[in-house]
Amino acid sequence: MVGEYCRRDRNTTRLFAVAELDKRPKVLVVGWDGVRDDTLRQMAPEAISEIASRGRWWTTTLPDVDIAPTMTAVGWSTILTGVWPDRHEVLGNDDTYHLLHRYPDMLTRAFCARPDIATYAATSALIFGTDFGPGPVLGPGVRTMTWFDRRTYPGGFADTDVLVADDAERRLGTQEHDFSFVYLGETDSAAHAHGVGSRYEEAIARQDARLARMVQAIRARPTFDDESWLVMLTTDHGHRDEGGHGRGSWQERQSFVVAGLLDGSPATWATEAANVDIAPTAWAHLRVTPSERWLCQGTSLLAP
Ligand SMILES: [Zn+2]
Repeated sequence: MVGEYCRRDRNTTRLFAVAELDKRPKVLVVGWDGVRDDTLRQMAPEAISEIASRGRWWTTTLPDVDIAPTMTAVGWSTILTGVWPDRHEVLGNDDTYHLLHRYPDMLTRAFCARPDIATYAATSALIFGTDFGPGPVLGPGVRTMTWFDRRTYPGGFADTDVLVADDAERRLGTQEHDFSFVYLGETDSAAHAHGVGSRYEEAIARQDARLARMVQAIRARPTFDDESWLVMLTTDHGHRDEGGHGRGSWQERQSFVVAGLLDGSPATWATEAANVDIAPTAWAHLRVTPSERWLCQGTSLLAP
């Protein structure tokens, strides 16, 4: 990035480099549950496509099902810890045995390494906010936690995603969080109830509109020009055509990673990605150096 400017004008380069370094790095990871990459690419919704245009959109494939079962708790544990299930050992939604205490979530890692990093998560899935299954998957380093109990809302995720998005829009726009994770689950419920079809696509479109509101709130921040926002999106697993997951079909194993810098800064992105790369990419942007003891199995998608 700086090299390109160097070739044009050394003085400009120096100013540009200083300005970039002075920008406060911010990371938002948005999780959409059970969103198929092929459906998403076909739809190419506006907000996610805009993020990708400022970075990259990778199709990822989960390992074989005997290594990484296509289950919600497994997928999010992998994404949030930066290690595959052979390390975190969450192998199902009902698993109570696991090693998440040894491999805490990426926000907790960042906060423990650098307590000046303000962390925030908003979600309504049981594994994040209760001791259901392997939960809580989000650890004590998530200093601001918004959690709604979807069991108490008649529409489940269709109701609570609205509340989660409202909370995220407000906090991202007005508060000083550096590393945020926002989870929306309606897409998974729609696929389970109706299969992969129009109802599923409508849920994806609603989640994209919620993403657009979050990005709009970030752009409206009075300090936006002094911040460098990395936004990433991903999913935990795909779905069979008729709805359902947990087996090893390619439809269930497909996933994606989208990453982009909101200010449009030039960057060099990796050509290939895996879901374990999300955590180290966030850490790299936040200038958190992973310890060897973290045993992270991913690498940053952003070239230094
Ligand atoms: Zn899921």
